[in-house]
Amino acid sequence: MRLVAAATIVTLVFFGVSAGDTQAEDGPPVTATQPLLRSIGEDVSPDELRATIARLVEFGTRHTLSETQSNTRGIGAARRWIRAQFIEMSRRCHGCLRIETPTQTIVGERIPKPTVIMDVLAVQRGTSDPDRVIVISGHLDSRVTDVMNATGDAPGADDDGSGTAAVLEAARVLSHYKFAATLVYAVLSGEEQGLYGGKLLAQSALDHHWQVEAALNNDIIGNATGANGMADKTHVRLFSEGTRSTETPEEAERRRYNGGEVDSPSRNLGRFISGIADRYITDFRVRMIYRTDRYSRGGDQVPMLAAGYPSVRFTESIENYTREHQDVRTVDGVHYGDVLGGIDFPYLAQVVRLNAVAMAALASAPAPPDSVKIGGAVSADTVLTWAPVAGAVSYRVWWRDTTAPIWTNSRSAGNATSLTLKDITIDDWFFGVSSVSADGYESPVEFPGPAGAFNPAIKPSSPASVHGN
Ligand SMILES: [Zn+2]
Repeated sequence: MRLVAAATIVTLVFFGVSAGDTQAEDGPPVTATQPLLRSIGEDVSPDELRATIARLVEFGTRHTLSETQSNTRGIGAARRWIRAQFIEMSRRCHGCLRIETPTQTIVGERIPKPTVIMDVLAVQRGTSDPDRVIVISGHLDSRVTDVMNATGDAPGADDDGSGTAAVLEAARVLSHYKFAATLVYAVLSGEEQGLYGGKLLAQSALDHHWQVEAALNNDIIGNATGANGMADKTHVRLFSEGTRSTETPEEAERRRYNGGEVDSPSRNLGRFISGIADRYITDFRVRMIYRTDRYSRGGDQVPMLAAGYPSVRFTESIENYTREHQDVRTVDGVHYGDVLGGIDFPYLAQVVRLNAVAMAALASAPAPPDSVKIGGAVSADTVLTWAPVAGAVSYRVWWRDTTAPIWTNSRSAGNATSLTLKDITIDDWFFGVSSVSADGYESPVEFPGPAGAFNPAIKPSSPASVHGN
């Protein structure tokens, strides 16, 4: 702690600049060079991903309404195989994973008869901050052209064998390590019938009183070449909502006036992940998409957002629509269907590296500060205040131009829980605060007030509840 404070003072001397400068004021972001994160990226294996998706395709169909008794075909066999993989991984890490199968019998719009929806979760409990949870998810179920066809071959290699393989690979790699926060590896089902597995995951999180700081949903992440031949193997798209799903009309009115429409916790989680890609994933960058999902389409991050949890969606740079939601067939020389041959494994590995490294970085950092507040109207200075969080030895105030997409300027507050930015007017910038651990891991930046709160349930008047649930 003393070392960190001393280093901060030194860098302030060398890099201190005047207000309005567009560079970071006292050096680069702190999660800049962590050997652990580099080695986690190197552990991700394209061969493991290939083996997982090849196995998933062998189940013929994983449609939510498909049979569950067979040991070789259908969603039942597939989810038993997933569970067995988690059990084997847990055996290798001396029981580090707790396997849960939240289950609900559903009748709904695309589920005409009572059907069991079952998610398969593996929970890696955090060492010092176990109620704080980082989730990775993908969906196991697959479909063909007719969403009600439960018997036709639906290989679902990319949608969403790729996301399911990402979850298993993240678990395989990260279960070798220990982290402050809890990691949840979530294989969902019922997505194509109406996001039922995502709803079940959100309900599970609420039932467990998990403080979900980040949910990374992976859906269609294994291909980078479109049917038109366009290719982009150096980016992944990251979708994040701009304003939080759960904001009240009063909060929306304040946000419209003061700003925050591009600073939900999900959006700042996206910025955090984009920064991880820049620093830790070679030749690979995030394309931030300022939308909850693709145009008029959905995914399992949506029920998590509805429950108030910061969530984003990873999807490949360029989708191939001859493969998604198609019967496997060839018409006029064009191959349709979501087959194994459509997966680009080196590309998929890059997306999975980014997920695994981001999870490790989030789980190693403290939570973002609680109850971030801002003041300074009709004043030359801006004042940020916040409540302390477990595991933080210092905090960093960030600001950027109101039209800038990423945080540009920052200043360390040391271990104080407020900072006055002298001669920087509140009117002209957007502001936020991050937390920093003793070993230099930094949290996502939190925008002040309910618009940006990662954990809006925590009120400054009840600090006792901060780490209690
Ligand atoms: Zn999907």
